[in-house]
This record gives sequence, structure tokens and C-alpha cells, in this order.
Amino acid sequence: MADRAAAPRAPYVGRFAPSPTGLLHAGSLVAALASWLDARAHGGRWLVRIEDLDAPRNVAGAAEAIVAQLESVGLCADGAVVRQSQRTALYEAALQALAAKGRAYPCACSRRDLALAVAAPAGASDARAEAIYPGTCRGGLRGKTPRSVRLQVERVAGTGEARIDWRDRRLGAQHQDVARAVGDFVLKRADGIFAYQLAVVVDDAEQGVTDVVRGEDLVDSTARQILLQRLLGLATPRYLHTPLIRTADGVKLSKQTGATPLALDDPLAALRQAGDVLGLAARGTTLAEWLASAIGCWRDRFSMSRGDVDRLGHDARLAAARTPPCP
Ligand SMILES: [Zn+2]
Repeated sequence: MADRAAAPRAPYVGRFAPSPTGLLHAGSLVAALASWLDARAHGGRWLVRIEDLDAPRNVAGAAEAIVAQLESVGLCADGAVVRQSQRTALYEAALQALAAKGRAYPCACSRRDLALAVAAPAGASDARAEAIYPGTCRGGLRGKTPRSVRLQVERVAGTGEARIDWRDRRLGAQHQDVARAVGDFVLKRADGIFAYQLAVVVDDAEQGVTDVVRGEDLVDSTARQILLQRLLGLATPRYLHTPLIRTADGVKLSKQTGATPLALDDPLAALRQAGDVLGLAARGTTLAEWLASAIGCWRDRFSMSRGDVDRLGHDARLAAARTPPCP
């Protein structure tokens, strides 16, 4: 497939990117563990990035607490933890690059304007999904005050040029016509905060991320991110979306649905629960033993093909179970 052929020829770099809106819970540990295992199974580096752009939602001290929680279960970042709040110049540069290509434009619509004008997106199950924007401001503001900045998803509306085909390593072939499913989405919000989609794309590229492993709730964001990568001339990483822990009602476990912070008193029990969600029959009576076993289980389930690994410039056999203790 085209996406595979375009896979970056770079050493494996993975990442875990939590928002500091509270402590890690059982659901977020699944994504953290999966991304760490994939990096270790491929002899790669694993980065931690704090996605703290949405300042009003940040909880003081949560970023440090999350890093401590990760270390308590043996998941240690290979390199400094970065914070998006300190990287806004990068996002501004990307926004300017899109504007220079005529693909970013100001939007004056208020939340109320949009509620009156738009239909709910078809089949939207993602909490981050936005209503389909009707294109009100694409042709100019006509004297109205700009509020947000949006991406012009298609150069010429209705051409299907924003149809994105991509492959998920677990879920297989995926596709989304971003124009029909999402429309011209927000790059910079009315409150001046850079949108999640733009920041993620800029950071993944700037940090050399080759492999994104994250929760299945973000599958719906992937086509938007690939579209932005293409418009900005950035490489597209490989993607693997993991299963979610769901509540009895089938809703994703999250702080909003009552998830309690991960207990630090029994880290091995927390890892075992996350491993169960990922279908890993890992064994071990210490953190190091269990993690080493889990790397082997992960490799059996999710290792990339020989060709993909060769593209990474690594020999998978050299990526034997490495569980370096936290420094
Ligand atoms: Zn508008």
C-alpha cells in the first residue's frame, strides 16, 4: 500500500502523549504500556510528551505525577519529557506554512452560529469529533471579527481530494473522506489555543516519531492528521490503535466516566490488568520479569513484517527483551 511504501526509513521512535488533566487510570495505562512494548519489541526509543495545550483543563502537578506513575510500573522515557505548552512557536510556524499555501483561513463563527448551521457528524463516536463545518467563512469574513483558524480541507470543494486511505497495524485498512466526515476543522481555537490535531502532527514529525501506538478512541483523528502531514510535507508514521477499557455501558473508561487513578501500591497488578486488555499472556513475579515476558508476547502479536523492520534499519533479533530500570 502507498502508506507502507512511504513509511519513514528511520530508527523506531514511539511515544506516549498524556494530557495532564488528572492521574493515569487503568485505561490510559493500556495505551502507555502498548506504546512502550511496541518500542521495546522493535529496539526503538520511547518518548513521553505532555499534551498540556488546553490550559484550563490542566491539573497542577498532574504531569509530574503521571511521569512518576509510569516509572513506578517500569515505563521510563528515553529522553527528556517535553511539554506542548513550551512548543507553541512550532505550531505557529506550521499554521503560517498552511496559510502561505492558502489552506488556513480565519473563521468568525461562534459556537451558536455553528449549532444553528450544522448537522451532527454521521457516526461520530469520538469525543473529539467536531460537527461538520458548513464552510461559512471560506470565502471571507465580510467584516466580521475572526475567532478561530480553520483548515481548508479541499482546495476545490467536492472533489474528494481529502479522502485518506491508511492502514492500522491492528485494525487493517481504514479510510475517511475528511471533507465529508469532518469538514474544514479548527487549527487554532477561538481562545487562542492550538488545536490538538495540528499540535500532534507537528510534534510527531519534530520528534521523529515513526510509530504511533494509542487508544482506539483516536482512530477517527488519524485521517485528519495524515491530511495535515501531507499538506505540511511531513512523513506519515505507522499507526496501531489499541483496544479500550470500557465501562459496563460500553463507554470508554476515562476520568469523565468514573475511572479512578491507578493504584501505585501494586504496580504488577496494574500491569497485568493492562496486559489482559491487550491480550498478552505475560508471566512474571517482578515488574522486570513481567515486562520482559510481555515484550515477547507483544512481538508474537504485533511485530511488523521483516520488510517493515528492515525499513527501520534494525534487526528485530537484536531487540531482545530489554527492560532497563528507571535511572
Ligand atoms: Zn466560520
